Amino acid sequence: MKLGIRNIGQIATGDLEKPLAEADTIVCDAGRITGIGVPKGALDACEVVIDANGATAAPGLIDSHVHITFGDFTPRQNVVGYLSSYVHGGVTTSISASEVHVPGRPHDRGGLKALALAARACFEGYRPGGMRVHAGSVILDPTLELSDLAELAAAGIWLAKAGFGAFDDAFDYAPYVKAAREAGMITTVHTGGSSIPGSGAISGDHILALDPHVSFHVNGGPTAMPDADFKRLATESEVALQICTAGNLRTALLCLEEARKADALHRLLIATDTPTGSGVMPLGLLYTMSHLSALGGLAPELAIACATGNNARVYGLEAGVLKEGRLADVILLDAPDGGTQRTALNAIRHGDIAAVGAVISSGVPRFVGRSRNTPATCREMRVERCDIPASFD
Ligand SMILES: [Zn+2]
Repeated sequence: MKLGIRNIGQIATGDLEKPLAEADTIVCDAGRITGIGVPKGALDACEVVIDANGATAAPGLIDSHVHITFGDFTPRQNVVGYLSSYVHGGVTTSISASEVHVPGRPHDRGGLKALALAARACFEGYRPGGMRVHAGSVILDPTLELSDLAELAAAGIWLAKAGFGAFDDAFDYAPYVKAAREAGMITTVHTGGSSIPGSGAISGDHILALDPHVSFHVNGGPTAMPDADFKRLATESEVALQICTAGNLRTALLCLEEARKADALHRLLIATDTPTGSGVMPLGLLYTMSHLSALGGLAPELAIACATGNNARVYGLEAGVLKEGRLADVILLDAPDGGTQRTALNAIRHGDIAAVGAVISSGVPRFVGRSRNTPATCREMRVERCDIPASFD
């Protein structure tokens, strides 16, 4: 499908280095962005044209901490359809934080490997609501042999999670994190107090010793590590600092401050850490973007980059940035109707959540006009022309 978006008011690119772009059109073809700021008439060849009516375009949001199980179902809150609901919060990509919530999940060597492989395979061609789901994060546990990690990587597993294994001491994860990293996986480690029975407290000393790619919910999941550790992770490591909605808001702001001082905004990630005991949060990323912007002084376009391009860079994804050649995941944001602000970026800076007016993933509109979860947009977005037998309203 060739898709065009016109009348864009503002573009937040998702790229931290160049977070705003001047253009009023985006063209996508066969699931990729093929043009930004195209000449007049270039939209004539599009089969579908969306009128953004002055709204702000941004990359589809990437939630790098979602507790995937199987299907569009979370046993943690017994909710069906939560991933489709997150799409209405602007999320077009979810990354599994390990399938730890699967009821009766296996703890034996074969079962742990099978769980990751099955989860990955189940989501390869399954896109709830149009969302791309990267599932299959192997739970690091002493029952695994270190050689299992290379074997799993060869079978396509590229995510590994430390924090829920049956280790007596969190430092004992070190050889497993190292083996997973050497196998080419993105390694992630639970951070802060224990979340569910079976997980233990992990602080800055552990993260520095384990040296994963990502400190999961660095601000607490939901309980934070000691304040002094935030500066240490910002200055003494290259670990990505993942701030989660379902964590400690005060330490989220502390982490932002330390990252800024250490010139480390490029490794600040925004995610939700849901569904969990904190619930299902389709608008979690929008809230955390607003919190960091309104309370922490982070420019709204940079907050968007933390929830899009930064996640994409750390996890090696092709989505997350509005640029020619990248995956065509585009959302249209606006100030919520009835508020005091007139643009999405000003609304975020003001502490309101941005309203979502359209979500496009892999170049296909998933809805245009009204999110079922955010407030209505100030501006009306609509499908202006549709030459194929489909409806996106
Ligand atoms: Zn989690």
